[in-house]
Amino acid sequence: MGKTTGFLEYERHDAAFLPVRERVNNWNEFIAPRPTSELTTQAARCMNCGVPFCHAAFVVEGRSIGCPLSNLIPEINDLVYRGDIEKAYSRLSKTHPFPEFTGRVCPALCESSCTLGEHEPAVTIKDIERYVIDEMMRRGKVVPHMPGVSTGKRIAVVGSGPSGLACADALNRLGDAVTVFERADRPGGLLMYGIPNMKLDKSLVLGRVGIMKDEGVRFELGAEVGTDYPVLSVMKNFDAIVLCCGATVERKLDVPGADLLGVMTALEFLTRSTANILDGEVIDGLPNIDGKRVAVVGGGDTGTDCVATSIRRGAASVNQLEIMPEPPGERSPGEPWPLWPKVKKTDYGQLEATELFGADPREYETTVKEIIGDGKKVTGVKTVRVEWRANEGAGGAMTPVELPGTERERPCDIVLTAMGFTGPERLLIDQLSLGTDARGCVAGRRSSSYRTNTPTVFAAGDMRSGPSLVVRAIDEGRRAARACHEYLARR
Ligand SMILES: Cc1cc2nc3c(=O)[nH]c(=O)nc-3n(C[C@H](O)[C@H](O)[C@H](O)COP(=O)(O)OP(=O)(O)OC[C@H]3O[C@@H](n4cnc5c(N)ncnc54)[C@H](O)[C@@H]3O)c2cc1C
Ligand code: SF4
Repeated sequence: MGKTTGFLEYERHDAAFLPVRERVNNWNEFIAPRPTSELTTQAARCMNCGVPFCHAAFVVEGRSIGCPLSNLIPEINDLVYRGDIEKAYSRLSKTHPFPEFTGRVCPALCESSCTLGEHEPAVTIKDIERYVIDEMMRRGKVVPHMPGVSTGKRIAVVGSGPSGLACADALNRLGDAVTVFERADRPGGLLMYGIPNMKLDKSLVLGRVGIMKDEGVRFELGAEVGTDYPVLSVMKNFDAIVLCCGATVERKLDVPGADLLGVMTALEFLTRSTANILDGEVIDGLPNIDGKRVAVVGGGDTGTDCVATSIRRGAASVNQLEIMPEPPGERSPGEPWPLWPKVKKTDYGQLEATELFGADPREYETTVKEIIGDGKKVTGVKTVRVEWRANEGAGGAMTPVELPGTERERPCDIVLTAMGFTGPERLLIDQLSLGTDARGCVAGRRSSSYRTNTPTVFAAGDMRSGPSLVVRAIDEGRRAARACHEYLARR
């Protein structure tokens, strides 16, 4: 696979980002285009290892290894190296319905399991994936394929995030008649209103949905099941329902002043920001950030998207406060190859803030004690440093302890809270009396049936697994589709 001596001859080169001062003036994607020759050289580094963990898709002690979709990575790399993009795309399409999404936003679980990565920098698998799909789109070769059969079964998919889209796509290919109900005005879930445009251009989401429509999938937008469409009538009109409603209940900042004007959650902010970009209109509740000082509470990927979005909206400064300790720069001994390691990632938002404001915006082991205001709107945050210590009372679990004398007041005008998600909304879970696990996710998480405790109701994606990744949501959607299709075929 690839060139047998490729990894000895060529070094890894990552995709370059466009210059900061250029890219922050617009909402376009920030990855710079690369010449084909660079990608074929990178593909040549795939080393014919014989046991490619990159496409293994298995879980060891709760930690995943390799691409959850089992993409045929060594074969794809070999075909790209040989210049046969059409065959590479045909291989990619066998396991992956939407590589244009993951080629941009996937953290590339595959690369941390790449055999070459045990001793050398891994193969740039994600960049190669993006190159294959982008090149095929450029050539006009990503076109609708009509399903060859019809089963006569009608299936409702609720939610059009990556799990709902993947589920609908797979069911449609199996010959079932699929209607996707989406309460938002545009399809895509967090692909549309969550991940910002500079990471994933929304025309790609709309383009894929357009192909699915041409293939026969029906989309009902602005249609909330449980309110606009009573769930019982959906159950009556369809042979089965697959719930793909996500897990977007945000963890709230529970401190004095959290209700002041200028405090909002990451998703409220990012959703309104994208709506403003797409509609070009004033959006109710989207704060004017121009010239303002922004504090982002939460150092994860959603926080990073808030940093980068604030910068593009003209923020005068951005701080990112994170309660957890700074992760190590490299794999720790407890996370050996081929596990996915928790290491410090300096992403596009931090790089932008560093160049524009002179320092990395992140501050670790720091939490917010209070939001200070003038009685109406935010004027600052009061923070305190913490130390993580083993807590005897909590069975030795590590808990944050405030360090006396480290309280500090920082002036700011906007506070964006990006502290993660607590689970799915209760609307349909309650209406259908669905069983849930300790995290409030639809039970069935550990089962391969994807069925809930209500007959003919299935669940997939973040709603079942808890907040996760686009690639895992696609995998869930495809597996739930197969389970639902087989269940109906047996009845
Ligand atoms: C800001 C942000 C950035 C992220 N960035 C990345 C990233 O870079 N890479 C990555 O891999 N992952 C990322 N993630 C995580 C990823 O987006 C999610 O794991 C993934 O979108 C989950 O897919 P899903 O289909 O399960 O749910 P969602 O994408 O949440 O979609 C659920 C859909 O269901 C709809 N819905 C809910 N209830 C109803 C109802 N009753 N009737 C009709 N419709 C309903 C919602 O409107 C929504 O459109 C990010 C998440 C966030 C919040
Ligand atoms: S989908 Fe993600 S994990 Fe799978 S091959 Fe692509 S980049 Fe790697």
